[in-house]
Amino acid sequence: MHQTGTTWPMKAGDIIRLLERLGVQPSRKLGQNFLIDPNTLRLIVAAARPEPHELILEIGPGTGVMTSALLEAGSDVIAIEFDARLAAWLREHHDGDSRIQIVEGDACRVDFESLVNGRSYRCVANLPYAVSSIIVGRFLEATNRPTRLTLLLQREMAERLAATSNNKTYGALTVRTQAMYKVKLERIVPPTVFFPPPDIDSAIVTMTPNEQVLPTHEVKPFGDMVRLGFSQRRKRLVKLLSSAYSKSDLELAWSELGFDDGARAEHLTVDDYLNLFRSLQR
Ligand code: SAM
Repeated sequence: MHQTGTTWPMKAGDIIRLLERLGVQPSRKLGQNFLIDPNTLRLIVAAARPEPHELILEIGPGTGVMTSALLEAGSDVIAIEFDARLAAWLREHHDGDSRIQIVEGDACRVDFESLVNGRSYRCVANLPYAVSSIIVGRFLEATNRPTRLTLLLQREMAERLAATSNNKTYGALTVRTQAMYKVKLERIVPPTVFFPPPDIDSAIVTMTPNEQVLPTHEVKPFGDMVRLGFSQRRKRLVKLLSSAYSKSDLELAWSELGFDDGARAEHLTVDDYLNLFRSLQR
């Protein structure tokens, strides 16, 4: 039965009872830490800025608290949920509402570009921790990328995405992400906003597209170069890249771009990596 305006705010106790009724014992492997705090939900929806009739792709809708809030804001929603019991419950709960499509499947594999079928879309997700970097990586390499991502992530992952060069948290995923998106760490959220509470803090992150991004066919080769560069952080970058690029091309790039011969992967900014990639493609 299609219900409107009745789902949220669900109290924490209602969510726990719903999970019991569905026989869902929260699984660590599936990152099943369900949101039970209306304030955090409001912050996520405000950060997502849903527009009426705009399409939102939600990964891991779980009990559907974010899904309902997005529908109430007037969005169309496609939600991909791995857990068959939750997917079935969401289908039943939203039966008759043509604005929502529930897809049961693994968001690491589902062809989400076919699902959105050429439409412009945003992504909103309280991501399962184990697969968050795979899912972010899939969005980066997509032809039709989200026009905005609002993600609730493990704090360490959020800090990694938002890091700047010369930091321990700055790594290949940082560079690959920031080559395509501006990343803003909106807020740290404590474990108490979830049931069950995870061991660590989480954070809300928004990602908005950069004006000049790599063409889609270059995103993967760029990522491969960056991953190789970070594969052994203590080694000189030029040495690591020599397994994939010629010595003369690297020497030329290093002298054109004024890089230090001893530079390690974390010393280059995202723009440095983009310039290096362009130089090595010539
Ligand atoms: N959005 C809900 C919320 O905020 O309460 C649930 C978030 S919970 C952190 C993560 C959700 O992702 C769970 O419902 C879990 O079953 C689902 N999930 C885990 N792995 C998944 C995958 N590979 N593909 C799609 N959904 C997945």
